[in-house]
Amino acid sequence: MASFTLHGIPVSRGIAIGRAHLLAPAALEVKHYLIPDEQVEAEVQRLQKAIATVHKELQTLWNELPKDSPAELGAFIDVHALILSDPMIAEVPLEIIRTRNYNAEWALVTQIDELSAQFDEIEDAYLRERKADIQQVGERVLKVLTGTASTLVKDGGDDAAGHLIVVAHDISPADMLQFKDRAFGGFVTDLGGPNSHTAIVARSLDIPAAVGMANASALIEQDDLVIIDGDAGVVIVEPPPNVLEQYRERQARIARDRKKLGKLRKTPAVTRDGTEVTLLANIELPEDCTAAMDAGAVGVGLFRSEFLFMGRTGVHHKLPTEDEQFESYRKAVVAMKGRPVTIRTLDIGADKPLDVAEQTALNPALGLRAIRFCLAEPQMFLAQLRAILRASAYGPVKLLIPMMAHAFEIDQSLAMIEQAKQQLRDAGEKFDPLIPVGAMIEIPAAALTLPMFIKKMDFLSIGTNDLIQYTLAIDRADHEVAHLYNPLHPAVLHLLSTTIALGARANVPVAVCGEMAGDVRLTRLLLGMGLREFSMHPTQLLSVKQEILNSDIEALAPQTKKILRSYDPVAIAEAVEELRAV
Ligand code: PEP
Ligand code: MG
Repeated sequence: MASFTLHGIPVSRGIAIGRAHLLAPAALEVKHYLIPDEQVEAEVQRLQKAIATVHKELQTLWNELPKDSPAELGAFIDVHALILSDPMIAEVPLEIIRTRNYNAEWALVTQIDELSAQFDEIEDAYLRERKADIQQVGERVLKVLTGTASTLVKDGGDDAAGHLIVVAHDISPADMLQFKDRAFGGFVTDLGGPNSHTAIVARSLDIPAAVGMANASALIEQDDLVIIDGDAGVVIVEPPPNVLEQYRERQARIARDRKKLGKLRKTPAVTRDGTEVTLLANIELPEDCTAAMDAGAVGVGLFRSEFLFMGRTGVHHKLPTEDEQFESYRKAVVAMKGRPVTIRTLDIGADKPLDVAEQTALNPALGLRAIRFCLAEPQMFLAQLRAILRASAYGPVKLLIPMMAHAFEIDQSLAMIEQAKQQLRDAGEKFDPLIPVGAMIEIPAAALTLPMFIKKMDFLSIGTNDLIQYTLAIDRADHEVAHLYNPLHPAVLHLLSTTIALGARANVPVAVCGEMAGDVRLTRLLLGMGLREFSMHPTQLLSVKQEILNSDIEALAPQTKKILRSYDPVAIAEAVEELRAV
């Protein structure tokens, strides 16, 4: 097959080389993992058993049909039974398990998608509509299977695992999160912007990924050999041997460099001129604390608690209970062994809907998101506050509130924290009464009225992802405007630098927890602005630390001032690049 190259948006660095695994939207809704060779026959039997169970179900349905029911109903059941017996359903998925080591659900959905695509091409409208029957039969089998899921195979469980490249039209943040304990080597999607939450989760997985690839999922075929250049946002399909060789060498070089960086784990982050810098981790789930500790983070600067709330539709009830949340927060606090854990209250909405199917807002990024949603759902918010407060009895916890813009949001949030504390006192529960409360500065209005926040908050954390989105009016998840999403726009730099400076003047600690904090190309610029707290994915921490160790703040400061006075985007970009040579 001929080689071709696709260009998109780089979102997670590194090189991935592997075989393409196309995931249709339906396939994303089921679990997909690889079965070790020795368990393949057991997995085949699991699917055979599920099919047999559905046969019985259909038989029972048939037997229990009321005498006076319309004839079509019986015929309908017959059609489903026939479909279920057809080798296309009863045998091909078994072969997929045997040849590709897919789990039963994945094998079944793969085959159903394949059949559905064939049906789409049929001219005859009646036959074309039989597609729905096939899907319904598939769903019946899936329902039985989900009750009998076998254990997941974790990363490293199979040598081939790292060589699978997921190719999909789009992947929601919740689906991306599912890949955390699965085995994939890279991601390519048609949609998505550089700072969509899907991209952020890909970065936290430390797996090369490229998004905004237009029609990659239509052009790339199952099992094609694919290279993802996650630094350039380029995907090469069926590369010629010399190109493949070059990328393998680059991959090996990156692995060697990473190994070297590992030596910096315990080195304190201090600049050449002796300024101490605090390097914190961003996490989505308590399990990520292992990676944070391994990278030498001195705490968690951002625990995106909404990931505990997402992807819970279907068999789960919707919201995690106070106790469930408490367990997750406590787990993170204990795992960090006395290092502070900053838990951000629910930031649901925009590209992180609780339920994708229920997303109805016309413009969700400007809608009932984050603190707005929490203040509109006080019982839910109080439950979360109590859960966080209870976790603060197990180690240092800070409470961070997202998306604040209005004075009343500050006052109401603080009042609700007081109310949650009182409820816990009444119940005799322990918590840290002096828990620090901070605000995310991520709406331009907040950055422009900073004294309002400084007066009432114990600390601030700048969310550059949203600050850029709202300052430049660029949807961070939309690849069509991704070229306009510029962290170095003078307006963004102005809001950032004034927030850092005003915080320092008032002695209120300011961190950056947006993606800018983990971008090693911007480390010196942020140091020059006076930033001393950076929170990022654990995977980025050691390269940022290396940059800090090589930086001299005194030398950076005058150059940074010059950058902040400029309105010329090209000159700014060049000067930021030059800072790395200072
Ligand atoms: C941000 O907006 O920069 C941020 C850290 O929060 P999130 O990416 O979760 O919106
Ligand atoms: Mg944000």
